[in-house]
Amino acid sequence: MKYTIAEFNKQFPDEVACLDEMFKRRYGHLIKCPKCSKRAAFHRAKNRKVYACQFCGYQLSPLAGTIFHKSSTPLKLWFHAIFLFSTSKNGVAAKELQRQLGVTYKTAWRMAAQIRKLMGQDDEPLAGEVEIDETFYGKGGTHQTKFKNKHAIIGMVERKGKIKAKQLPNRQAALILPVIKEAVVRGSRVITDEYRGYDKLSYSAYGYQHHNVKHGKGHYSWKGQNTNTIEGFWGQLKTSLRGTYHFVSPQHLQSYIDEFAWRYNNREGISPAFVALLARVSQVAQLG
Ligand SMILES: [Zn+2]
Repeated sequence: MKYTIAEFNKQFPDEVACLDEMFKRRYGHLIKCPKCSKRAAFHRAKNRKVYACQFCGYQLSPLAGTIFHKSSTPLKLWFHAIFLFSTSKNGVAAKELQRQLGVTYKTAWRMAAQIRKLMGQDDEPLAGEVEIDETFYGKGGTHQTKFKNKHAIIGMVERKGKIKAKQLPNRQAALILPVIKEAVVRGSRVITDEYRGYDKLSYSAYGYQHHNVKHGKGHYSWKGQNTNTIEGFWGQLKTSLRGTYHFVSPQHLQSYIDEFAWRYNNREGISPAFVALLARVSQVAQLG
């Protein structure tokens, strides 16, 4: 769903509008005051980021525990940054955030890192037809033949569904098989290339219907034998990492993988990706 900067600015013209939104998201469901138990309205305290019960004065803080809480950056700028992340296809460089928001580079970099944390992958496993493939990322080009100093990324994607991708030190079967087992429901039809690390997927320990693209392994030939979807994702990921972020170090790589997986998974939601990302702010806070 399309959500433009004009709509964004209309919906969130100022700090109060952003704060009210956070209050509504976090405490909008409250019917009674948690303290005095009366059916109360909560009013925003003047010049403060809290809302107080009309009867007993009990205060609720919609930003407590969120990425906004201890930040001196205005909420409106945070919202704007989240908007940029949610509408961009190729990611948002800290330099670009700095330019658009008028904050320092350091602040922009920190904001981007925090927003990326909101984009973490969930634990819900994939099912149905799942393409699985691995790729490599690191200095010195993206060729598989030179992967000595590279990290592996294992990716799993449901046809017309969700994606999961995880960074690993290498692509040994001992590392990739447990990741697949956790991420893909047993019995699913999995499609891989001919890499031998996948050979055990059809063993009873894993229990998948395994199709191998190159050799057409499996019990019957089947026209859906390709890994085009996951390969498309790798293409998008690498183009964006190179074009927007230039180089990402191994200790940050997973958060960038999460960013692009999130974008893929929210590509055609019923609500705008912006709303989905904003919803994560309070959810992440409540998870602890
Ligand atoms: Zn009260």
